[in-house]
Amino acid sequence: MVDRRAQWPRSGAAVTGVTTAARIARDIEAHIITAGWPVGTAIGKEDELGERFGASRSVVREAIRLAEHHRVLRAQRGVGGGLYVCAPDAGPAVRAVLIYLDYIGVDLGALTDARALLEPLAASLAAQRLTEQGIRDVRRAVRAEGQGADLDAGAQDRLHLLVGELSGNPALRLFVEVLIRLTPQYTRPRVPQHRKATVHSRHGDIGEAIAGGDPARAEVAMEQHMAEVGSWLAANPRRGARTWLSWDENADGEGKQAEVVALRVHDEIVRRGWPVGSVIASEAELVERHDTSRNVLRQAVRLLEYHSVARMRRGRGGGLVVLQPHPGACVDTMALYLSYRSVSDDDLVSTRQAIESSLVRRLAGMSGEDRLATSARSATLDEVVTEGSPGNFHVGLAEAAGNPVLALFLEILIEVRRRGAPVGEPSGVSDEGCVEEHRGIVGAIRAGDGDLARHRMRKHLHARPACR
Ligand SMILES: [Zn+2]
Ligand SMILES: [Zn+2]
Repeated sequence: MVDRRAQWPRSGAAVTGVTTAARIARDIEAHIITAGWPVGTAIGKEDELGERFGASRSVVREAIRLAEHHRVLRAQRGVGGGLYVCAPDAGPAVRAVLIYLDYIGVDLGALTDARALLEPLAASLAAQRLTEQGIRDVRRAVRAEGQGADLDAGAQDRLHLLVGELSGNPALRLFVEVLIRLTPQYTRPRVPQHRKATVHSRHGDIGEAIAGGDPARAEVAMEQHMAEVGSWLAANPRRGARTWLSWDENADGEGKQAEVVALRVHDEIVRRGWPVGSVIASEAELVERHDTSRNVLRQAVRLLEYHSVARMRRGRGGGLVVLQPHPGACVDTMALYLSYRSVSDDDLVSTRQAIESSLVRRLAGMSGEDRLATSARSATLDEVVTEGSPGNFHVGLAEAAGNPVLALFLEILIEVRRRGAPVGEPSGVSDEGCVEEHRGIVGAIRAGDGDLARHRMRKHLHARPACR
């Protein structure tokens, strides 16, 4: 797969071509965050919002649809109708990340590496932050797996999702969910019975260690399980067409139908190899192909536009044009959800510590040639450290390690923390001391000293949690 990531800008916030509606949607969302996310409260009617933002009715309506798509708002029609604040779920954030990862192209190695790094951490945290409810949940999850006569592959994902939840770290939980939902793209959909039994017994060990409040044991059990999962996936690749995760297929109402149509169009773009700039079809052709109404198709197009997947071009030679997805869209959606889940500074920094200290160790262990091969497509270690391009050192390192998934997660952690950072905290970007420390880290990597590289990275991030 081609890594197209390096070709375009990666500043988190600046999404080019944002429509007025998208901007208003973000303003509404920001307003809800500032108000402390008061689920169930009314935030005015459509025309009131139109006045507040000085926008036309159709633009406001579009903004409201986007906020609904993010599960931030719910529009209630009729008498006593209006806009109400909702409790969002992780769906839109996960989907935004998956769309982006699909575009940049992720190989199985990057996926299993990311799981092997993050899931043992989640298991260890789950045992540390154990509650009575957690003990009940984890036991029930393992028991349910054992009782299911004919489990689908998805049933065994539940334990992994639960461990992410029990980690009590919303960022980690979200990343685990992304990775779990990405996994079926790489493997056979049917899992043989003997394999299910093995997995079930491993899950039993993990569940016991968590319920027993033993972080070290939970971590090791998950590590071993991840190593087995990795080899199993590598030995049983998916053949034929890839399928995308299902957006809510239990569609009801036009909004949901629009999500399903958007998904199908997105699938088609993936199948065609994401041909940026080319026209997929005209509006009329799409209405026919997806057997839908014009109105539903237009809503679907808005979603695709919002996620920078495709855009409708009017006039002669017009039609649905394929766009380059931008990481800003998923960083924004992620930040929104994490602020709802009130992710703590500590959660963000500790997840970052875990990812980065493991990455530098990995880099130090790679031979010079490996390192060159994987980093050739993004930035070489030299560029990362000397050209400075300050602000890109940390994400650049993740790219040099050849893992675009971890590079994106890192970018999200850095951006989400930057937005919520204490006022006046120095960014550390142009700091000379920072650059010096970066050199020290790279020096240890070059010398092949993984322990030293990890130590230096830990110290650096501890002293400068805001460094990019
Ligand atoms: Zn498992
Ligand atoms: Zn730094």
